Amino acid sequence: MTVESGTTLREGDGSGAGVEILGARDVPLGGPRSMTVRRTLPQRGRTLIGAWCFADHYGPDDVTATGGMDVAPHPHTGLQTVSWLFSGEIEHRDSLGSHAFVRPGELNLMTGGSGISHSEVSTPGTTTLHGVQLWVALPDEHRHAARDFQHHVPEPVSLDGAELRVFLGSLAGVTSPVRTFTPLLGAQLTLSAGASVSLDLDPGFEHGILVDAGDVHVDGTAVRPAELAYVTPGRTTLTVTNGTREAARLILLGGPPFGEEIVMWWNFVGRTDEDIRQAREDWEHGDRFGVVHGYDGDRLSAPTLPNVPLKPRRNPS
Ligand code: MN
Repeated sequence: MTVESGTTLREGDGSGAGVEILGARDVPLGGPRSMTVRRTLPQRGRTLIGAWCFADHYGPDDVTATGGMDVAPHPHTGLQTVSWLFSGEIEHRDSLGSHAFVRPGELNLMTGGSGISHSEVSTPGTTTLHGVQLWVALPDEHRHAARDFQHHVPEPVSLDGAELRVFLGSLAGVTSPVRTFTPLLGAQLTLSAGASVSLDLDPGFEHGILVDAGDVHVDGTAVRPAELAYVTPGRTTLTVTNGTREAARLILLGGPPFGEEIVMWWNFVGRTDEDIRQAREDWEHGDRFGVVHGYDGDRLSAPTLPNVPLKPRRNPS
């Protein structure tokens, strides 16, 4: 059983409105030598930020202690997965036939619309594993999109005391060429010691700032490592400062509020309980998700569904 972490409104220095802090909860990923991730989306107080519906943050983990990552072939529907590393390397295989290595600073975006399966394994050369795994919900009209896999290496851009890598969407005049099904922002920002950066925002977007490291303040509000700060639509600028003597690193997420209700269970995003039950049945007994070749071991079995219908979730209004 997992305990949903709460949300708090932490007051800033009075310079702006309160920033909502979404705390992380620890979730074991499963497997014989389980690594634990810090999950900030979804949680009771918030299902999505834009179309971002899932945020796992992990490491830095010494893989000799945790065993690293070894996620056997498993299915996805109705979403895209974003793998973004700070250190280490992950070998990705999917039922499209993709065989790719996920490396720091490189976007790997997998579309599992109507159905895809994949495996993710940290490579033998990996000593420290550190990064995020994010999911994007597909809008109803595109949620059965064909499976796809895209790789993109954003050019780092220097700002005053900061470095920005925009992997999805646009920020600070930098635009990622990667196509998305709804407007999105996904970027890594590193701030040198004592740096402060003001970013122009799309006021139609809501934003999330996931802090990996550093003494970060967002519009004057402290956001601790592993916390996700939520910022409502309507903002035109955001000021991020680093009060430490070492570099700070954070992930910026954003998008227009996703107006649809979704049903999330295991690795599936659907709209109804029936969508999810069908997807589970197809994984256990059908060929909808294709086959992952080259993974050394068995694929994952779906967990047992609850006896009661799965409820749609949406953001608080
Ligand atoms: Mn996956």
